[in-house]
Amino acid sequence: MEIINGKEIAIEFRNQLKEKIKAFPTEIGLAVVIVGHDPASMIYVRNKVKACEEIGIKSSVYELEESISQKELESLLVSLGEDKNTHGILLQLPLPKGFDCESAMAKIPPQKDVDGFSAVDLGNLALNKPNFVACTPLGVMKMLEYKGIDLTGKHAVVLGRSDTVGKPMAMLLLNANATVTICHSKTANLSEICKSADVLVSAIGRPKFVTENMVKDGAVVIDVGINRDENGKLCGDVDYENVAPKTSFITPVPGGVGPMTIAMLLYNTYKAAQRSLKE
Ligand code: NAP
Repeated sequence: MEIINGKEIAIEFRNQLKEKIKAFPTEIGLAVVIVGHDPASMIYVRNKVKACEEIGIKSSVYELEESISQKELESLLVSLGEDKNTHGILLQLPLPKGFDCESAMAKIPPQKDVDGFSAVDLGNLALNKPNFVACTPLGVMKMLEYKGIDLTGKHAVVLGRSDTVGKPMAMLLLNANATVTICHSKTANLSEICKSADVLVSAIGRPKFVTENMVKDGAVVIDVGINRDENGKLCGDVDYENVAPKTSFITPVPGGVGPMTIAMLLYNTYKAAQRSLKE
């Protein structure tokens, strides 16, 4: 069994990216838009800003009050879309109740949608012509690639079908020639399906849901979940202690997929800047 150390891989990836950003002819700008004061969202934004600073990307945070109108939010996104010094735009989700997220997201031009959440990006991925790919599933693919795990012909099972993690994850695995099964809360025989997986990616947000009897010997297990256990300790979707000995590779929580997500956001922002230079 080998632990896939996402923290280490992300540091290596970020160091390589830092050199490219240093050599880039202009300053690279990322606009981060947050509406309201959700504590978790504010922590995520702070972490993203810090990561930008460390790597040499200029981040500008737009903190909007919950009382702002949909129209005001959308006109900010449109003006950032037109701003030449803003290469990437990130709208921190979820938006507070009452906002039309889809409509707001649609105001971010596809060439600046570094989160890769837009309908255009998801559609392009489905056509295997990816533009920006959602950061978490992209981070998982980079980890698998880093470890030289070939997906061709493998049975990959994805637990979760969200538009931001499960679906793009499944499409990436499919594009990499795996045979993919997507499971969700209405899936019958979920345990048996999981047990037939060569590669099992869990993104459901249920602490220690994946137990050892659901995992095939020698499987690759990727844990996207971020949860708290009964003692308030951070844990994934996988019952790590009991599952790990059965696997060939496994990601821990914390220190697995999480650090890769931010690294991919930086990568997407760099890619957006590179493209704007070409245009
Ligand atoms: P989400 O939008 O809530 O989606 C959860 C998915 O899991 C849904 O498709 C749901 O099925 C499925 N599900 C829930 N309970 C299930 C069960 N008992 N059996 C089978 N399927 C079940 O969540 P998300 O945004 O995709 O995130 C999933 C997890 O990943 C969360 O823990 C989140 O915190 C974590 N996450 C981590 C990172 C990172 O950087 N590491 C990034 C993003 C998210 P239905 O569709 O049928 O409801």
